[in-house]
Amino acid sequence: MTAASAARILIVGPQGSGKGTQGVRVAEGFGIPVVSTGDIFRANIKGGTELGRKVSDITARGDLVPDELTSEIVRDRLSQDDAASGFLLDGYPRNVAQVGHLDEFLSGRDEALDAVILLDVPREESIARLKLRADEQGRSDDTEEGIAHRLDIYENETAPILAVYGERGIVDRIDGVGSLDEITERIRSALSARGLTLAA
Ligand code: ADP
Repeated sequence: MTAASAARILIVGPQGSGKGTQGVRVAEGFGIPVVSTGDIFRANIKGGTELGRKVSDITARGDLVPDELTSEIVRDRLSQDDAASGFLLDGYPRNVAQVGHLDEFLSGRDEALDAVILLDVPREESIARLKLRADEQGRSDDTEEGIAHRLDIYENETAPILAVYGERGIVDRIDGVGSLDEITERIRSALSARGLTLAA
């Protein structure tokens, strides 16, 4: 097997954009772990941990978990050995304050993000996909109000991080409408244009 190339990637997109699915595919291609804050919170809620108890009401409402708490969890996760030569972040940073926290952490390790994949889908498409997911997965935050609230937070708090990363020239806007394979291919080709090549 070829050695995994170092890649530090962030995938961003509105709820229902498919970023979770695409994130897993891309991370597998690079041999890097996915670090999804939503998954970490859900696993803790399910496991009944102290963190889970702290965040269950917040996530059920679709509000953001406090920045300091979230950033601390991400720092811990990124400090594990498997993230030493790269990682794919999904769901973090989610606002400009968290971008600052991540910058501070990464620069302390002489690292920086290599690419930010923006998975672009229209709001109506997001809502339609989330309604399907609500039926399939029964997530407690996938109610009609929960979905609308999270999309509002995305537009007001998360979308502005793209301006910050845009100034650094690392954002690739990818059309998120199409088949799973088509979208993975678009991402692969954008990353490869940056010199980030999937192993297999
Ligand atoms: P979605 O993208 O569908 O909202 P996620 O799985 O990314 O789902 O996140 C689920 C919930 O976890 C969010 O609504 C929020 O409550 C919490 N969460 C996830 N990531 C963050 C973050 N970076 N900062 C604060 N809260 C977060």
